Amino acid sequence: MTIKTTDLGCWLWQGACASSGYPLLTIDGERRSVHRHVFLIFNGPLKTDPQYCVVQTCNNKACINPAHLVQITRAQAKRRNWHIQMDAVLGYECEGGHPWSAGKWEMKRSTDGTALGRRCLICKAEQHKEYMRRRRIKARNQKKIDELPDLTP
Ligand SMILES: [Zn+2]
Ligand SMILES: [Zn+2]
Repeated sequence: MTIKTTDLGCWLWQGACASSGYPLLTIDGERRSVHRHVFLIFNGPLKTDPQYCVVQTCNNKACINPAHLVQITRAQAKRRNWHIQMDAVLGYECEGGHPWSAGKWEMKRSTDGTALGRRCLICKAEQHKEYMRRRRIKARNQKKIDELPDLTP
């Protein structure tokens, strides 16, 4: 078998891959998806419902470690992929250095509901605190100004 293991416990397929990035193997002259095949052998029956697909929890498409393979619906996979892409674009943490994996974020959406990206809730709370602090200072200054004696000549 042509497999390379990694520190993260991934078993990376070194053979041919489909254009989608998933490992391919020819069995009895038939091209098969390796990770699906491994899932079937180690993790039990595959759901025949075409709504289901096998994905890697480690997010490495070349990984065929059965412990990293799960069968989820295509809708779930689509959502997962979106987040993986967001990780790739945004990095694994927000600008404030809080890892997205902590799950402390909300979805930024446009008015028509399209997902635009993630907003870190820790940063949002800090920004809100800072905003409230500035508002308090401004209010206090305004009060002082209001209390000044009339200086008009
Ligand atoms: Zn893996
Ligand atoms: Zn943050």
